[in-house]
Amino acid sequence: MLLCFCVIAFFCGTTQDLGYYLPDSVQYNPAIPKPNTIIHHEVGEWHVTHDRLVDYMKAIASAAPDRVKMETIGLTYENRPQVLLIFTSPQNHKNLEQIRQQHIALSDPTKSTSIDIENMPAVVWIGHSIHGNEPSGTNAALISAYYLAAAQGKNINDLLENVIILFDPSFNPDGLQRFSTWVNQHKSKNLVTDPNSREFNEVWPGGRFNHYWFDLNRDWLPAVHVESQNRLAVFHQWKPNILTDHHEQGSNATFFFQPGVPSRVNPLTPAKNQELTAKLGKYHAAFLDRIGSLYFTKEAYDDYYYGKGSTYPDVNGAIGILFEQASSRGHAQQTANGILRFPMTIRNQFTTTLSTLEGAKNLRKEFLSFQRDFYKTSATESSAAATKAYLFGDSKDKGKNAEFITMLKRHQIEIYDLKNNLKAGGYDFKNGSAYVVPAAQNQHRLIRGIFDKTLSYKDSLFYDITSWTMPLAYGLPYAELGSAQYNQNMLGEKVITAAKPVQNSFLKSEYAYLFEWSELLAPAALYEIQNAGIGTRVATASFEILVNGTSKKFDAGTIMIPVQMQTWASDKIFETLKSVSQKYNLQLHTLTTGSVLSGSDIGSSRLANITKPVVAMITGPGVNATDAGEFWYLMDQRMNIPVTHLEPGIFNRVDLGKYNTIVLVGGNYNELNKEKLKTWVQAGGNLIALEEAVTWASQSGISNVTFKKAKGGADSVQMLAYVDKEQIEGAQQVRGVILRAEADLTHPLAFGYSYPYISLFKSNRVYMEKSKNPFATPFYYKEKPLQSGWMSRQNADAAKNSAAVIISGLGSGKVISIADNPNFRAFWLSGTKLMMNTIFFGRMVDTGFSAGE
Ligand SMILES: [Zn+2]
Repeated sequence: MLLCFCVIAFFCGTTQDLGYYLPDSVQYNPAIPKPNTIIHHEVGEWHVTHDRLVDYMKAIASAAPDRVKMETIGLTYENRPQVLLIFTSPQNHKNLEQIRQQHIALSDPTKSTSIDIENMPAVVWIGHSIHGNEPSGTNAALISAYYLAAAQGKNINDLLENVIILFDPSFNPDGLQRFSTWVNQHKSKNLVTDPNSREFNEVWPGGRFNHYWFDLNRDWLPAVHVESQNRLAVFHQWKPNILTDHHEQGSNATFFFQPGVPSRVNPLTPAKNQELTAKLGKYHAAFLDRIGSLYFTKEAYDDYYYGKGSTYPDVNGAIGILFEQASSRGHAQQTANGILRFPMTIRNQFTTTLSTLEGAKNLRKEFLSFQRDFYKTSATESSAAATKAYLFGDSKDKGKNAEFITMLKRHQIEIYDLKNNLKAGGYDFKNGSAYVVPAAQNQHRLIRGIFDKTLSYKDSLFYDITSWTMPLAYGLPYAELGSAQYNQNMLGEKVITAAKPVQNSFLKSEYAYLFEWSELLAPAALYEIQNAGIGTRVATASFEILVNGTSKKFDAGTIMIPVQMQTWASDKIFETLKSVSQKYNLQLHTLTTGSVLSGSDIGSSRLANITKPVVAMITGPGVNATDAGEFWYLMDQRMNIPVTHLEPGIFNRVDLGKYNTIVLVGGNYNELNKEKLKTWVQAGGNLIALEEAVTWASQSGISNVTFKKAKGGADSVQMLAYVDKEQIEGAQQVRGVILRAEADLTHPLAFGYSYPYISLFKSNRVYMEKSKNPFATPFYYKEKPLQSGWMSRQNADAAKNSAAVIISGLGSGKVISIADNPNFRAFWLSGTKLMMNTIFFGRMVDTGFSAGE
């Protein structure tokens, strides 16, 4: 019988007990539960679900209270707990708060000189599987947690005395749950290793992303999402010396650990960071050699964009380490290297956690003194820098100011009110709506990483975006102040919180109300008013009128709510507007007359009726999931506007009559019935196409757009060295640049913008010719639109004088084509108004043009 059992176990092939993972010759405390007693399977036998993962972490924490404390740092969108375990020695646990405070002081040059690091523990954050469908990290966390709680002997005692381990078993709980459910439900008793099998091919959008289909490993800097916000708060509460980021790569690879490509390190990262990364690398190599695992280093991935988990620490006095394990994706998969089994991928991740901790223990003093020096040299670097302060603020959009301030404060950046009005960089900055960020402060390097533009690079290949200059992305007026313009007297109060008191001082009217469109959340307010059944109009030109006895100018885009001829009585209208004003911190104005001082009277048809948008977006295979998620997030989280997600199969068979607006984000729409879409537009539909969808809509005969082609980098007649292929072809990619588009502020698609230009984000090669209709290209590029980022000469040529936005008519409908991504990663607020204008005002644009043709 025993023999028979062995044979079965052999053929099942993947079930490994803990002995496969754990180092030899270590004794374990029998009081600590093994993973299988809590999660009901061996590690690597099934993919652990997030709820079982948390069950195990709880069990560990209650079985070893002197070694491990567990806290919940927040909840995800789907209300899963983000748990953090702190492993260290019983003695350190007793003094944990004191150790933390002393550690934090190391990053404060006013305190750090007097700190003795001789006996200070290092702080290491071990982080797993921010991409939910890269499961070996999270599954290895079960082994690591068991080891750290249960191992006995001198080695573990030394480690726990010298290191505080912050342990996050799952950076992306919602993604992990989605993926584990998928992969477990497709597991066969006799493992199927054929990569074509359903187990290895998740349905759209896949478990990589969070609830809103965002890549959380791009969100460390913008911190748009709750998962990142909760994590950043703890990051700065502890300021670790090392942070590890356990990922997976393609199944045919081996194992990668940093350092990455040396020429692609962000120039703000000190060279010493990469030296220490390489020193740690020696430990990873030695530990992987011991278990016979292949690996590579230096020739892939980079440390450029600070929004990634392995790069954000680099600009905070720490070392971020990226690990990339070849993915078995499912339980066992055929690869170029043979059958890759899930347990092996878990073992490599666990092993590099051990190597990281060993390196941290041995190099502890080097990491600590590097962190201290990093912040000491911030002061010298800032005195050498040309820019002494950054000034920002939009007097017409306090919502956007608040978003930007909140983001800066998550990174512990100090901000001050501007004391007196100041002209700088072509803008009028006003006390009350303008803010100063002095360059000379602890976070000097990160401030530069947030504010600076970049136009020169050592390398032209990038793993992620090449520029993200945040004030441009947010669409905020800003200026860099040199030593001639900056002095400390311009600093008012230190900004503690971005929240400003609600302005709600308007009186009840029997005539009409107004509010301006320039505020970030004005579209949310408009929708809520429309959804309450209240009729609304938009001013298509500016006008001046008396408000509370003083003359005030209102720009085109101002929303007017008349009181008469509504379904509701004036009391109910006032109550609704009061609540909307409070909710969105929006100033409403009471009118007692329709007679203006200049412009059109309030009863003019130039104040056009606008009806409620009923919006659907196409989602599903072919559609770029992150682009779709960005639009969903914009509508749902920011604007509180519902959007129907239409899969192509559903689209093709339902009645589209109930939607007046359909959005196609970047992606491939070949599954969509284009004749049906065309008929819907002709009948009056408002179609909005972004990025590659612009090309598809044009090729499908739905829009009237022609394109400019970017010439390739390699001339086909030329002979080139094969070794340069990747570099030459890669340089022709547009990996994310910031372009300045000129705006026609009189056009409904530009309502709410205060300046005749906006910054748009481009990561594609879609270049549109300007429309033949002179009124139909409301946003376009001039000779040199590049504001920041890397773009080849060929791409820059194609972008030159091209159109950014075109609106064309088809029957009684409209098609709005936007070549770039106005919603990028949800922090590109510069494009938000454009996107919301397409939703609310696209339907009212007159696209007719007859002259001259
Ligand atoms: Zn990844």
